[in-house]
Amino acid sequence: MAQSKIFQCASCENCVEAWDDGNPYYIDLTRSRQGMPRSRCKVYAYHPEIPAQPIEGNDVPHLCLDCNHEFRVDSERPRETCTKCRNRNIIDTCRLEGRTCPKCRSGSFEGQPGAIS
Ligand SMILES: [Zn+2]
Ligand SMILES: [Zn+2]
Repeated sequence: MAQSKIFQCASCENCVEAWDDGNPYYIDLTRSRQGMPRSRCKVYAYHPEIPAQPIEGNDVPHLCLDCNHEFRVDSERPRETCTKCRNRNIIDTCRLEGRTCPKCRSGSFEGQPGAIS
């Protein structure tokens, strides 16, 4: 089971939904072999499916606290900078509680339990 959390800014409409387990994936070797042998074909393992192959990594959603850009960081290819503005002020969306909102820069995020899948 995965639990989501909704982080809502206290002073503007900025809202980010975070899932506690990110986006686990495995590499589909069958499909990778047919097409381009060097490309890794990612298959996301969504709940409640049991993945056909062992989980290889996790694409974890991050938010840039400078430009409000949301993007995923692959655990197998970690990065410490925003894909848009290249700043290092990025954070796992699960840890947004109490952080200053990058949109209005005055409110801070407050977490609430969201959906369960
Ligand atoms: Zn805000
Ligand atoms: Zn950024």
